[in-house]
Amino acid sequence: MPTPVIQCEEISKSFDNNNAVNTLSMSVENGEIFVLLGSSGCGKTTTLRLIAGLDNLDDGRIYIDNREVSSSTEFLPPENRKIGMVFQDYALFPHMNVEDNVGYGLGGDAQRSDKVRDTLSITNLTGLEKRMPYQLSGGEQQRVALARALATNPRVLLLDEPFSNLDAQLRASVRTETKEIIKKIGIATVLVTHSQEEALIMADKIGVMKEGKIEQIDTPHNIFHKPISEFVANFMGMCDFIPSRIADGMIHTEVGSAPVSLKDKSVDNVMAMVRPDDLSIEVCDTGNAKVVEKTFQGAFYIYKVLLNSGQLMHVLGSHINNLELDQEVNVTLSPGHSVSYMDSNRLIHS
Ligand code: ATP
Repeated sequence: MPTPVIQCEEISKSFDNNNAVNTLSMSVENGEIFVLLGSSGCGKTTTLRLIAGLDNLDDGRIYIDNREVSSSTEFLPPENRKIGMVFQDYALFPHMNVEDNVGYGLGGDAQRSDKVRDTLSITNLTGLEKRMPYQLSGGEQQRVALARALATNPRVLLLDEPFSNLDAQLRASVRTETKEIIKKIGIATVLVTHSQEEALIMADKIGVMKEGKIEQIDTPHNIFHKPISEFVANFMGMCDFIPSRIADGMIHTEVGSAPVSLKDKSVDNVMAMVRPDDLSIEVCDTGNAKVVEKTFQGAFYIYKVLLNSGQLMHVLGSHINNLELDQEVNVTLSPGHSVSYMDSNRLIHS
């Protein structure tokens, strides 16, 4: 097992009796992008600030490269932690050109100009050395902030909502480019975001936060397809929980059956988790549901349907079949999709 570069052990931080971060543990390896994902106020930025040493913790320990940097007895100041940070607003020095912004942290380093040149090259900024920040596009400003954070060869890169100032189209390309740069350098990175899409695109590992704690740490694939709780399942995307029963290695729902592990015991009342893309919808006068709401999403529609039992569900439908409200339909589980279900407040995946 590789040794983590960043290790947080049960760290806590309160502000005025409000537990901003509560016994949180996580670790990040060299070259890994760890995304802290959660809604506003769940403690993401506070966690990042504790790792950076911009705040001190109340409890727990933080190690960087096996060195204790924060605990009840240790506090290494931020400038000695070998950390590079990029903030939401980039915080570029407006009176300095690109070259001077990037070289700022290098002070009188003898290799200053070589390091600035190399960093500008790796962040695709060569040629823009003499531009002032106001002469740069949003994407270029973001890269200058990244270059400044990387110029001192830090061991750890901390990114706080680094793409939120960019418009949607630019954000997509800047994300990809930033990921490529981070992977090229191979640095332990923590990125904070409230965007599920961004987390899925950027992360090697995602930590989903809720009220100061991490609810689940896993790969993007598993966070989306194998959430451990109803909270993570709902947070990662639209889903419905419908009454079902398990018997003979199958889970039986109102919209069809799917196999579960034969080890799973037979249970009469379980809640199955179904995502809109797990289902098929077709017009049928003798079907099991009717359309009560529809939302156009461009490439597809999300239909809200009322099943005969009174259960409401969301179904993804192709834009080719534009179904009308009150249309009678048949909704069925698509073959090949596995169905998860709740057991003792934990989601079980087949
Ligand atoms: P956002 O996505 O909105 O930035 P966040 O997940 O980053 O939110 P934090 O900024 O870490 O959340 O805040 C966590 C909690 O701690 C919030 O309730 C916030 O109001 C509180 N908090 C953060 N910093 C301070 C502070 N310096 N003084 C008092 N309360 C604070």
